[in-house]
Amino acid sequence: MSDLISDRNIDRSKLQVSDEVAIQITNMNKWYGQFHVLRDINLTVNRGERIVIAGPSGSGKSTMIRCINRLEEHQQGQIIVDGTELTSDLKNIDKIRSEVGMCFQHFNLFPHLTILENCTLAPIWVRKTPKKEAIETAMHFLEKVKIPDQAHKYPGQLSGGQQQRVAIARSLCMKPRIMLFDEPTSALDPEMIKEVLDTMIELAEEGMTMLCVTHEMGFARQVANRVIFMADGQIVEQNEPEEFFNNPKSERTQQFLSQIL
Ligand code: ADP
Ligand code: MG
Repeated sequence: MSDLISDRNIDRSKLQVSDEVAIQITNMNKWYGQFHVLRDINLTVNRGERIVIAGPSGSGKSTMIRCINRLEEHQQGQIIVDGTELTSDLKNIDKIRSEVGMCFQHFNLFPHLTILENCTLAPIWVRKTPKKEAIETAMHFLEKVKIPDQAHKYPGQLSGGQQQRVAIARSLCMKPRIMLFDEPTSALDPEMIKEVLDTMIELAEEGMTMLCVTHEMGFARQVANRVIFMADGQIVEQNEPEEFFNNPKSERTQQFLSQIL
């Protein structure tokens, strides 16, 4: 387990949580066939929160965050994102997807498109943004993730850390109000983890609402305002990082922490 970000100064005064609710999940249940993968999930996320979701492999972390933008469908309960309920209504799904960006372990860039084209594709074709404006926006976010000079290269010509930063920039080009991260650094070599975490920290400092599945407990300690521990498809425990790490309540959490810390 790394504490790779400990040398970066984080301006905690910028990390403000508002009273406004961004995501409300109520009594949510999901099955894969007969397998009951998520059980009675209740979670309220306010705007500006940075939530780290931890838990053993197979506990349902990916499934839960994928339900928030309908990459997976829940069967019971309610998910409301920015006031819109996630139902099978395509209009609602589109609206929610336009507010929620997602970044995966594997970057899922299009290998045959340049970095710039990867970033402008959805704005041009989904959002109908004029090409010139889409390019300006893409360059803005590529500068933000510190790789504007790579814009005309192809993904295969970039390092893993650079590709993940492109994936983040590509999400930001859709101007999301919420970002979901699913183990964004797990496929990266150690020296590249830090540059991706730094990008995520900057997003946090700008007030982005973030849900991050990650094993980076240094990030959780320093950036998260809340850590959620999942096991067997349930939220077992949640707390502010200090309490979560120093004083875990449930045996499952204690056992998990003793393995990773
Ligand atoms: P985590 O991200 O915490 O490792 P996942 O959400 O990926 O957990 O998976 C939770 C459980 O659901 C695991 O037992 C996994 O094998 C199962 N699972 C995940 N995706 C599918 C799927 N598409 N079909 C059936 N079972 C799945
Ligand atoms: Mg997962």
